[in-house]
Amino acid sequence: MFHLTFRRRFAMGHRLIASGSERCAVPHGHNEIVTVRLQAVRPARLDGGANMVEPFERAKATWHRWIDTAVDHALQLSETDPLLAWFAAQEPHRLDRILVSPGDPTTELLACCLMAKLNTFLAADGGRLRCAEIRLEETPTNGVAFDGDPLDALPAQAGAGTDRWWLRPDMSINDLQAGTAGG
Ligand SMILES: [Zn+2]
Repeated sequence: MFHLTFRRRFAMGHRLIASGSERCAVPHGHNEIVTVRLQAVRPARLDGGANMVEPFERAKATWHRWIDTAVDHALQLSETDPLLAWFAAQEPHRLDRILVSPGDPTTELLACCLMAKLNTFLAADGGRLRCAEIRLEETPTNGVAFDGDPLDALPAQAGAGTDRWWLRPDMSINDLQAGTAGG
């Protein structure tokens, strides 16, 4: 089976408030590299003409646009982080720059949310491809890889089947505009 692989780099800020690590509880940032491996939902032989699974540009266009415009330089916060209320009160015009996660925005959790979003984009574009694996490198030496169904790995509070940002094929990175949180 063919696998299409795409890599993208982005910068982000976050903090982790549930793990008990004082070092991680202070807002800080990382330069991350996300690598995705796509495969055909219905694998077939090359057609003898164009001989491609899918044009690279089409396969990665929406994904990379979302990474570049929405995820890059976003602040990642848990939906329980009190900083969300601070932004809502003091700088509400910046809420769309905050990626809100179900629990702390760890590398593991983000791998699942990003993979789910990519699968949502691919489904909206005809469903010919799906993401088979995602790799998220937080530093040159630390990273997380995930394969399987990210919806099975997200925490239960993420609400299976409900309308969360990773299930919407738009540029959103939180549900604050939809009125499900914050305010
Ligand atoms: Zn960190």
